[in-house]
Amino acid sequence: MNGKVYIVGAGPGDPDLLTVKAYKLIQKADVILYDRLINPEILLMAKPECELVYVGKEDGKHIIEQDKINFLLQDFSKKYKIIVRLKGGDPFVFGRGGEEAVFLEENGISYEIVPGITSAIAVPAYAGVPVTHRGVSSSFAVITGHGHKGKFPDINWKSLAGIGTLIFLMGVSNREKIAQNLIEAGRNPDEPVIFIEKGTTKEQKSIESTLKDVAEGKVNVYPPAIFLIGDVVELRKKIHWFENQLEEIRL
Ligand code: SAH
Repeated sequence: MNGKVYIVGAGPGDPDLLTVKAYKLIQKADVILYDRLINPEILLMAKPECELVYVGKEDGKHIIEQDKINFLLQDFSKKYKIIVRLKGGDPFVFGRGGEEAVFLEENGISYEIVPGITSAIAVPAYAGVPVTHRGVSSSFAVITGHGHKGKFPDINWKSLAGIGTLIFLMGVSNREKIAQNLIEAGRNPDEPVIFIEKGTTKEQKSIESTLKDVAEGKVNVYPPAIFLIGDVVELRKKIHWFENQLEEIRL
């Protein structure tokens, strides 16, 4: 059998934020290899005979090594017609989707990339924070807070000083160092920041603070979370739709 591998973005959590293409492929898949942050509700959309394979990773640490995932994809492409490699958010935003695509290309295995809605933009939106806003922020950067093999990432901090909104993924455990480096690079210590845990799900929780307080270790937060820095956080006072809905459900 000559199967095709689809490297599919599953969106940030809310199953309704799947693309139509992702939804159709999940329903048709013979096997789905999925990561830790995939909402189990999405896996329930697969057909009953679909094989589900967990290949999770935690903040960059793979439970299964990337090489093994690649070889699994190769083996499944000989056994099945539709192989879905399902990743949180968008597969090319810190998802190692590019590495898998290069492997498939080099080994002559057919594949397609199905982009997804990245948590970097969608999670702030669900917290009432637009990543750009006229007169407030005209640029944003998405940055990893976790370096290779768990090390602190090698980032040009000075280059981040002039960007409107900074969005760190995988930044929870290094949040103090990130904030300290940003202040040293010239960002205002009183700049508002927000952490959004489990965004777009029923358990979404937001914590607002300032860069200084994060640098001083005053903020408790648990992964998975987005760490966003910028004046756009203030817009949350006006745009507060999703968490209001959640509060109503909880009452
Ligand atoms: N490819 C993914 C990102 C993978 S890196 C994407 O495009 O969204 C994993 C990091 O994404 C987590 O450490 C966290 O910072 C962020 N993340 C993913 N889903 C999230 C969610 N529902 N809520 C908050 N942060 C999330």
